[in-house]
Amino acid sequence: MSSGGTIWFWHRRDLRIADNAGLYAALKDAQSCGARVQPVFIFDRHLLDGLLRRDRRVSFIHHSLEELQAAYAAQGATLWVHDGTPADFWQAQLAAGNVQGIYANEDYEPYARSRDTAVAKLAQEAGVRCSLLKDHVIFARDEVLTQARVPYTVFTPYSRSWLARLDAFYLKPYPVEQYLGALARAEPRPVPSLGTIGFDPHPADWPGPQVPDDLLRHYGRTRDFPGQPGTSRLGVHLRFGTLSIRRVASLAQELSSSFLNELIWRDFYQMILWHFPHVVHQAFKPAYDRIPWRDSPEDFARWCAGETGYPLVDAGMRELTATGYMHNRVRMVVASFLTKHLLIDWRLGEAWFAGQLLDFELASNNGGWQWAAGSGCDAAPYFRIFNPESQLQKFDPQLVYVRRWVPEYGTHRYPQPMVPHAAARQRALDVYKAALNAL
Ligand SMILES: Cc1cc2nc3c(=O)[nH]c(=O)nc-3n(C[C@H](O)[C@H](O)[C@H](O)COP(=O)(O)OP(=O)(O)OC[C@H]3O[C@@H](n4cnc5c(N)ncnc54)[C@H](O)[C@@H]3O)c2cc1C
Repeated sequence: MSSGGTIWFWHRRDLRIADNAGLYAALKDAQSCGARVQPVFIFDRHLLDGLLRRDRRVSFIHHSLEELQAAYAAQGATLWVHDGTPADFWQAQLAAGNVQGIYANEDYEPYARSRDTAVAKLAQEAGVRCSLLKDHVIFARDEVLTQARVPYTVFTPYSRSWLARLDAFYLKPYPVEQYLGALARAEPRPVPSLGTIGFDPHPADWPGPQVPDDLLRHYGRTRDFPGQPGTSRLGVHLRFGTLSIRRVASLAQELSSSFLNELIWRDFYQMILWHFPHVVHQAFKPAYDRIPWRDSPEDFARWCAGETGYPLVDAGMRELTATGYMHNRVRMVVASFLTKHLLIDWRLGEAWFAGQLLDFELASNNGGWQWAAGSGCDAAPYFRIFNPESQLQKFDPQLVYVRRWVPEYGTHRYPQPMVPHAAARQRALDVYKAALNAL
């Protein structure tokens, strides 16, 4: 590479400086060839234009960008924040001869892959190298395969291979701080306000990025009880990369194998999405696309509103609307209820979650929904149907969670169950069986 030019680092789902694989590679490269690294973030109109004006995630991203900007300013550098489309931005920079290289971290979602392929093509046409690094997961794509060198489609054997492959190398932080001298020096530029990009601010009610040792130590015992603060709430930080997965996985390795197991699920679903992108629109197991889902906007609306008459389901749905979060145990129960008790297409539930969850992640959300519907990567057969009443007795026996979100539970104002459990269960079994046995 020639010296003295600008190497760009493009932040996407990695809104941090510390232990950032792509930023580290960009800085190291720049240092070796006398170039300077200019970081940029693009508010991508392809993604933003489909959102409501008041979106928790956009507020979270905006807040994280302000923190990132402050961190760059402390180094005498600045983060460019562009509002537009990635293709237009890169086309303009490349045409201006302002690009010696582009670095970013890999993103495994179908839209991101096509976006990155298009940008790489633009760069290639201009004779510029575009490099993508692994940062979002511990093991990506083909790094954990079966002995036959094909992707795993069942979690347990995948997790065994994942653990067998793990060593200190994969958890080692990238020492970005050693190379910060290669950042381009510039006066700080303010991050455009939320109003400028067409959004209203949302109260900053998201959890912090801390990972208390005690929480991890007790996680195996507390993680299933939605009334207790027994899980980390790190989903949003892992989604937007305000925390490094290597740091979180290192702590998990030291303190909690069950927490590490959940991080393996996260890698697993990213790997599935990479190899089987059809899951975004279709069942992972094609036979499940034959299920004749019920078309009932009224039942779907009751589920969304948390008025099903099943207190654990209703508490979860109300927690989701109020906070943008739902406990994992309850996500499983409400998803099972929608797809089995109400026989409503998992894609509708998935889309509802996608619009509400602060930690929305396409790979995990799709994986979770298909798992619940039985159509995904689950070794258990479709006839595992959660009983929402026994789940309540087991995981919220003192009704701590239910009372928090459904204060009218136990009064005459609380509705009767919208479908009786036994009959709904039998209907689901009959419909699934008939569809799966059909030629
Ligand atoms: C129907 C359904 C939809 C889901 N949608 C999402 C989603 O959009 N985004 C998302 O990050 N997770 C999703 N999950 C997985 C899981 O429910 C959340 O990751 C978890 O509840 C987030 O809370 P936490 O950060 O306190 O998790 P913790 O229990 O503290 O777990 C730590 C981290 O591990 C990862 N993790 C935990 N469980 C899973 C899992 N089953 N699959 C994948 N990763 C996991 C997450 O990154 C999580 O933040 C979904 C699960 C189901 C059943």
